[in-house]
Amino acid sequence: MNTQLRIAIVGAGPGGLTLARILHLHGIATTVFEQESHPLERPQGGTLDLHEDSGLRALRQAGLMDAVLAIARYEDQGSRLLDKAANVLFEDQDAASGDRPEVDRTALRAMLLQALPASCVRWGCAMREVQARADGRWNLLFGHGSEGPFDLVVGADGAWSRIRPLLSPYRPQYSGLTFIECGIDDVDRSHPALAQLVGRGKMGVEADGKEIIAQRNGNAHIRAYAIFRVPADWAARRFDLASPAAMRVELIKEFDGFAPEILDLFRASNDHFAIRPICALPVGHCWPSRRGLTLLGDAAHVMSPFGGDGVNNAMFDAAELARLLIERTDWAAAVAEYETLMFARIVESAEGAAEGAATQLSHVGQELTLAMYRSHAGWNQDEIHPFA
Ligand SMILES: Cc1cc2nc3c(=O)[nH]c(=O)nc-3n(C[C@H](O)[C@H](O)[C@H](O)COP(=O)(O)OP(=O)(O)OC[C@H]3O[C@@H](n4cnc5c(N)ncnc54)[C@H](O)[C@@H]3O)c2cc1C
Repeated sequence: MNTQLRIAIVGAGPGGLTLARILHLHGIATTVFEQESHPLERPQGGTLDLHEDSGLRALRQAGLMDAVLAIARYEDQGSRLLDKAANVLFEDQDAASGDRPEVDRTALRAMLLQALPASCVRWGCAMREVQARADGRWNLLFGHGSEGPFDLVVGADGAWSRIRPLLSPYRPQYSGLTFIECGIDDVDRSHPALAQLVGRGKMGVEADGKEIIAQRNGNAHIRAYAIFRVPADWAARRFDLASPAAMRVELIKEFDGFAPEILDLFRASNDHFAIRPICALPVGHCWPSRRGLTLLGDAAHVMSPFGGDGVNNAMFDAAELARLLIERTDWAAAVAEYETLMFARIVESAEGAAEGAATQLSHVGQELTLAMYRSHAGWNQDEIHPFA
């Protein structure tokens, strides 16, 4: 590929940064435009498990395996399933032996940023619009003015991508599930009973059409999600995010009948609650190739987190796009080939994530989950529910 090609990547998430890093390794400069003003503007979210055949493969291609091993938590791959009285229905005690290490998102982003020249990422650049130029190239419009021209613009700007409307009329649809997120800090010292309840990995409990999933993160932090099947606007009407004290009280009310030691997750939460309606693009989402524009990661195929493939898919998309750009002489043909391969590759995990979301909180939810945990105890983690 011509190394003079001007490439803009919109979004410094795991997908965009992986693409920038692999191209950088091969002497191809890119500019990443990120709306956040600096890397720590907001917490990047919880823990993610890296899959050997996608996320880890991409990071290997990025030459970052030593750095990955420094942040990977192999010891936090366990899983527990409880009933609402806090009886253990299933437990995988062999937490460290799996091949899907956990990483914290913030650590993953920091690792990728460290592997790039500081000038590569332009912080505080919220892209508003992509404008077609008469010469077939593209300008990006920001609050501070426009940047360009670029030969290739890669939308790595997540679920609500501003580049996607130029390629596809589809928008993510609400899945019917809403997550209320909360977090508990310093669990080993301040909340040892909760540390034990959640164990070294993730803990799930589902009853009465509601569910709680809690995951151990790095730095002795637990992130928990209260999960409801409700209309899209229900949570915003039901909860007042401006009042953490009221959030705790109302969540405890919602889970009335669950054991007090489970409800302690809400009692012990810090003040950072968030409402996350789970949305997804249709399975099989694709678009006709358009010269100079493409998408990767959630921008291309956001799906429910049931399946745990999102970040792995995003980084593998990036690795594949980079590989083809590096290998092919015709960059536009390389992008079209990437898209064709990606559309076919993503269908399986999109189907799994859609099925995972559809079967959550059914009248036999807990039984279904338990059967799945048991049948996979051997371990085919691909279908372990949820956040495999
Ligand atoms: C509750 C929840 C739990 C999840 N759990 C898991 C899990 O366990 N495992 C897993 O693999 N995945 C999980 N996911 C999915 C995972 O977070 C995503 O699939 C992954 O982050 C996608 O990476 P990305 O780089 O494509 O996009 P993102 O991570 O969304 O990054 C997009 C970046 O683009 C920036 N941006 C957006 N718009 C603009 C703009 N206009 N201009 C400039 N910058 C912009 C954003 O600020 C962001 O930095 C979960 C998702 C949710 C909601």
